[in-house]
Amino acid sequence: MDKRLIIAIDGYSSSGKSTFARAIARELNYIYIDSGAMYRAVTLYCLRKGYIGKDVLRMEGILADIKDIHISFIYNPDINEYETFLNSENIEREIRGFEVSSYVSRISQIPEVRYRMVELQRQIGVYKGIVMDGRDIGTVVFPDADLKIFMTASVDIRAKRRFDELINKNIEIDFEEVRENIIARDIADENRDISPLRRADDAIVLDNSRMTVEQQMEWVTKIIENKINGR
Ligand code: C5P
Repeated sequence: MDKRLIIAIDGYSSSGKSTFARAIARELNYIYIDSGAMYRAVTLYCLRKGYIGKDVLRMEGILADIKDIHISFIYNPDINEYETFLNSENIEREIRGFEVSSYVSRISQIPEVRYRMVELQRQIGVYKGIVMDGRDIGTVVFPDADLKIFMTASVDIRAKRRFDELINKNIEIDFEEVRENIIARDIADENRDISPLRRADDAIVLDNSRMTVEQQMEWVTKIIENKINGR
């Protein structure tokens, strides 16, 4: 039976959403979409244009340009991953850096930015057979998703994961700075007026503080099999 699902994975920053979502997509041969990368791409665009910075937020520039921001995900066979492109430029590395991380919550609070991103995300969803991770996928983007998972883990564990990820990418960073950025993003994501981070009523909570990716996969595989078989 080939019932293709839409799987929504939401949760806190660095709760392991993307690793988990990627693993599920690989297992099922689905498309994986990192919605956070889209907000990061818009943030990078705005930083480069000088629309956002320390004590700067030039809304008129952001609103005028929003339609000129094209984001796509292109498969790189060398690393067996999709990479994020902004107007045909590979920005995968740049959007993971500290500067983008520091400003992305401000950009993702702008209603017009969210409307545009949600529109693009829904267009991708028409194909079904996708795993999308973010903050509002189960609540706003795909309220009818076949499976919704809400991920969480302790702040220290999330900070350690993010720190290791950046170090592995040769990005120099201080642990305490990473930890503070995570706490600040949690607060901003949970308290923004539009689409705040919250668990959808029908989402299953997964606290993976003490779980390996293999254990998470074992856990989710049973749930997915039941969904596909209509149980
Ligand atoms: O998932 P990631 O940490 O890369 O997301 C970066 C930021 O993008 C989040 O801190 C949040 O402000 C924003 N975001 C969002 N809605 C999503 C995905 C990400 O607001 N669906």
